Amino acid sequence: MKYKVLIMRCEEYDPDKIANIIKAGMEELEVKPSGRILLKPNVVLAHPEVFAHAFTRKEFLDGVISATKSRAVDVKEIAVGERSGITIPTRYNFKNAGYIEIIKKHKIKTYYFDEVKQVPIRLKRAERLRDSIFVPKPVAQADFLINLPKFKAHPWCRLTLSLKNFIGIQDDRHRLVDHNSFLEHKIADLQEIIQPKFIAIDAIEAGQKMMLTPTPFHMGAIVMGINSCAVDTVGCHMVHVDPKDIIHLRYSSERGFGPMNLDEIEVSGDFSIEAVQERTKDFEFCLEHIDSHFGENSNLSCTVGTFPEEHSPDYCWGGCPGALQEAMHIFKGFYPHVNEEMKKIRYVVGKVEEPIKIETDEKVIFAGDCTAWEGTIDGKDVKIESRYKTTREVDEKQTQSNDMLLKTAKTLWTCFKSRKSRYLRAKGCPISVGDHVHYVSSLGKISNVNFDHRLLIPVNIAYWRMRINRFWNRFLG
Ligand code: SF4
Repeated sequence: MKYKVLIMRCEEYDPDKIANIIKAGMEELEVKPSGRILLKPNVVLAHPEVFAHAFTRKEFLDGVISATKSRAVDVKEIAVGERSGITIPTRYNFKNAGYIEIIKKHKIKTYYFDEVKQVPIRLKRAERLRDSIFVPKPVAQADFLINLPKFKAHPWCRLTLSLKNFIGIQDDRHRLVDHNSFLEHKIADLQEIIQPKFIAIDAIEAGQKMMLTPTPFHMGAIVMGINSCAVDTVGCHMVHVDPKDIIHLRYSSERGFGPMNLDEIEVSGDFSIEAVQERTKDFEFCLEHIDSHFGENSNLSCTVGTFPEEHSPDYCWGGCPGALQEAMHIFKGFYPHVNEEMKKIRYVVGKVEEPIKIETDEKVIFAGDCTAWEGTIDGKDVKIESRYKTTREVDEKQTQSNDMLLKTAKTLWTCFKSRKSRYLRAKGCPISVGDHVHYVSSLGKISNVNFDHRLLIPVNIAYWRMRINRFWNRFLG
C-alpha cells in the first residue's frame, strides 16, 4: 500500500478556506475522526511581536476544528493539547496565539500538558533508548490524534514537521531527558506511543532558520496525510532536502513507522512538489556549528571540543550548542545588535584539550555537563571536569522538576556567585534555552529578556495559574 500525501495551495489564513481544504483532504484520505479526538498543534512559543511565526496559526486550528467536527463520528471528546517550550506556561502561549477564543468558539476542551498528570508508557522496540517514557494522560488516552505541525526549519534537526512535533507532548520534567545528541533517537521513540491518524501541516507561512524566532517564508501550502514518515518525506522534498539527512525520519522509517522514499508515496493535491520547489529555492536553514555561526564582529565566540557519544563525537546536535543559538536569536528579537553590544563572552562546550586564548576583557562559560578543560586563566589553574551521565545512568523517573521559577532562581544564583570570577560553570545536559538566556545576560551585561515588561507579568500570572491547576489535577487524576 502506498501512503497518500496531499499538498494543497492555500495562500492566506482564511479559516473557512482552510476548513474546506482540510475537509476535502480528510475525505480523500478517508479520515473519520472518532472517540477521544486530540489535536496537537505546535505552539512552542507565541508572542505577537517577538515570537510571531513560531506556531501553528489560530486560523489554521480554527479551520481544522471545523473540518474535524464535520467529519467526526461517535465523538467522546474533541480537545486541543500542547506543551510549549523553554518552560513558559502553555496557557501563556495559547493566549498569545489567539487559541483561547477559537477553542471557546468551538466549545471544545483544552489540555495544557504541563498541568495534567504524566503517565509512563512502556517501550518495546529493540532500538529504544529507554524502557519507558512519560507522556500526559490525555495523550495516552487519545483514540484519534490529529497532528498539526508548523512547517519550520530547525537548528538541531534541519526541519521540524510531523515527527519532531511530538517533542511538544512532554512536560518540563521529562522533555530535557535525552535532549542532547540522542534527540533524534528520542523523537523516534516517541512515535511508539501513539501514531497520528491525520496530519495537517501549516505551511502557509513557513519558518526559516530558527524554530523559536523563525523568519517567515510564504510557502502557501497545506500538507496532509495519515502517516508521519510519508508526510515528512514529502515535506523534505518541498524544500530541497534529502529525507536521509533528517536523522529522526531515517530512524523512524527504519523502525517500520513509514516510508522515506518518494517511490513508496502517492503525492497528490493541487500543488505539485516541483511547483513548491520552484517557490522554495531560497528557503533558508540554519544548521551551522556555533563556532562558525557567530560572525567575526560578534562579541560571542565559541570553542567547540569533542563529545562523549560514539555516534556523534564531533558535535552535539540536540543539546547545548543549538540552545545557545536559539537564546541568542531570542535576544536579537529584543535587541537587534546584541552580538556587538554585549560584553565579550567565550562559550566553551565539549572536551577541549588545547589551551584557550582568552582576551583580557572576556568572560568564559564552560557550558554543559560534558565539558572538560584544564589550563590557566589569569595565571590561576582552572580544572573543569566532565560530569556527563550516559543514557543508562539517567533515570527518567528521578528527573528534576525543571520548574520555571526554581530554575531561574538557581541559575541567577550561580551567576551571582560567579560575578567576580572570569569564568562560570553552567551545569546541565542539556542547558536549556531559558538558562542560556540567563547566563548570556549576566556575563554579557545585557538586559535579561525574561524581565522585559512584555513577558514578566503575563508569564508569571500564567505560571501561578498553571501551578494551581497542576495541583488540583494531581487529585482529580
Ligand atoms: S552537556 Fe554536552 S552532551 Fe549534554 S547536551 Fe550539552 S553539549 Fe550535549
